[in-house]
Amino acid sequence: MKKLFLPMAKNVLLLAFFIIATAQAEDIDLQKLVNDVHQQFAEHKEGKNPDYIPALAAVNPDLFAVSIVTADGKVYSSGDSQHLFSIQSISKAFNLAALMQQQGDEAVIKNIGVNATGLPFSSVMAIELNEERSVNPLVNAGAMATVSLIKAKNSKQKWQLIASNLEAFAGRDLSVINGIYASETATNVKNQAIARLLHNYGRFYDDIDESVDLYTRMCSVGINTQDLAVMGATYANGGVNPVSGKKVVDKKYVPKILAVMTTAGLYDDSGLWLYKVGLPAKSGVGGGIVAVVPGKYGIAAFSPPVDAAGNSVRAQLAIAAIAEKLNVNIFK
Ligand code: GLU
Repeated sequence: MKKLFLPMAKNVLLLAFFIIATAQAEDIDLQKLVNDVHQQFAEHKEGKNPDYIPALAAVNPDLFAVSIVTADGKVYSSGDSQHLFSIQSISKAFNLAALMQQQGDEAVIKNIGVNATGLPFSSVMAIELNEERSVNPLVNAGAMATVSLIKAKNSKQKWQLIASNLEAFAGRDLSVINGIYASETATNVKNQAIARLLHNYGRFYDDIDESVDLYTRMCSVGINTQDLAVMGATYANGGVNPVSGKKVVDKKYVPKILAVMTTAGLYDDSGLWLYKVGLPAKSGVGGGIVAVVPGKYGIAAFSPPVDAAGNSVRAQLAIAAIAEKLNVNIFK
C-alpha cells in the first residue's frame, strides 16, 4: 500500500506543480512585460550600427522596440514599434517557407543544405570548406541560392512571389525601403562574388545578377517589430497567421524551418544564443530579431547597434528577458 501511495503522491505533486507553472505563465500581463523590458534596456548603449551597408550606419541608434504576438493573435508592443527598419537576414527564415511550399523540404537538403557553418554569415571560407557549398538557407550563400532556386516565369513574377510571401507572414502590404536598397545595391560586391562562387560549384540555380538583386531587394523590405512578432507568431501557430487567419505555410514544414533557425538563426553566435535563451530565432543586421515559442508566441525586438557577430545587442537582451520571465526555453 505504502509502495503504491508514494509514486501516486509524487505524480499528484508533479501535476500540481505543472498547473501552477502554466497558470503563472498565463497570468503574466504581457503589456506590462513588454513595457518593463523596454524600460529595463532603454538606456543600454552597447554595440554599433553596421556600416558595411552605409545606409544602416545612418539609422538612429537610439530606436528601440519590443513586441509580443500570441499564437491566438493578441498584440502587445512597447517603444518604437511602428518604426520601419530593413528586415535584412530575417527575411531568409520566411523565404525558406516559400521555397518549401513550392518544392518541398527535400529540395532544401538536396540543393542548399541545413547544417550550421559556425562561421560568419558572409563567409567565403564556409563555401570552400563544405561540400554542400551553400550550407544553409540562413547564411548569405544559402539565402541567395534559395532565391535562385525558387521557380517563376520571370524576375518580376519571382519578386511578386517573394514579396507576397513576406506580406502573408506579416498580414499586411509591405514596401522596400528605397534608401537601404540603393545603398546595399551599390555595395554588395561580396554577395555578387559569393553567388558567382556558388555558380562555379553548380550550386546556383538562376541568373546570378538577377538573383542577387532580388535577394538585396528582399533584405531591404521595411517592417516594424509588430509585423515581425506577427510573422513569428505565424510559425508559433503552425503556419497560420493568427491575425489575418490565413494559412501561409504547411504545418509540416514549420518544425523544419524552426530547426534551421535554432541551429543557424543568430549567425556564428547561434550556439551561445541557444545555450542562454533556448529558442529558435532569426536576426538581421538591420537590428531586428524574432524568436518563436512553438504553440505560444512570436517575440520581436529592434535596436540598430549590433555586436561582433551582427546581432542587435538590445534585441537579444530584451528577448532573453521576456523568454526568462515567460519560462519558455524549449529545452525546459
Ligand atoms: N543584406 C545583408 C547582406 O547580404 C543581410 C545580412 C544580414 O542581415 O545578416 O549582407
